[in-house]
Amino acid sequence: MNRLISLIPVVLDQEPMLACPHCGGINIHPTSVRCNPAGDLPGQVRIEESGVLWNGNTEPDGRGVRIDLVFWCERGHTFGLVFHFLKGNTLVKRNMNPIDPPTETIWRN
Ligand SMILES: [Zn+2]
Repeated sequence: MNRLISLIPVVLDQEPMLACPHCGGINIHPTSVRCNPAGDLPGQVRIEESGVLWNGNTEPDGRGVRIDLVFWCERGHTFGLVFHFLKGNTLVKRNMNPIDPPTETIWRN
């Protein structure tokens, strides 16, 4: 049986808006985009408020490629959405406690 479920909480207004999975608030700020390279190579690239960062020593999290999006809620919560591509499928996970979450919003004027 295939069922469609939602791991990504949204509030429907004129357009769907991402909601905090902790409190349901809709004042959500993106703070980090993280991606590990495919395969067994170590390393992680991050896009954060301070710029594009590379840590070549970060160990990969399993096989395939993993993309983490980290968010901050104006009520003080942090959470992440994880897309992990492996063997032809992209797993979607919600991370309620991201490691080392930044609190500065990625922002361009
Ligand atoms: Zn919240």
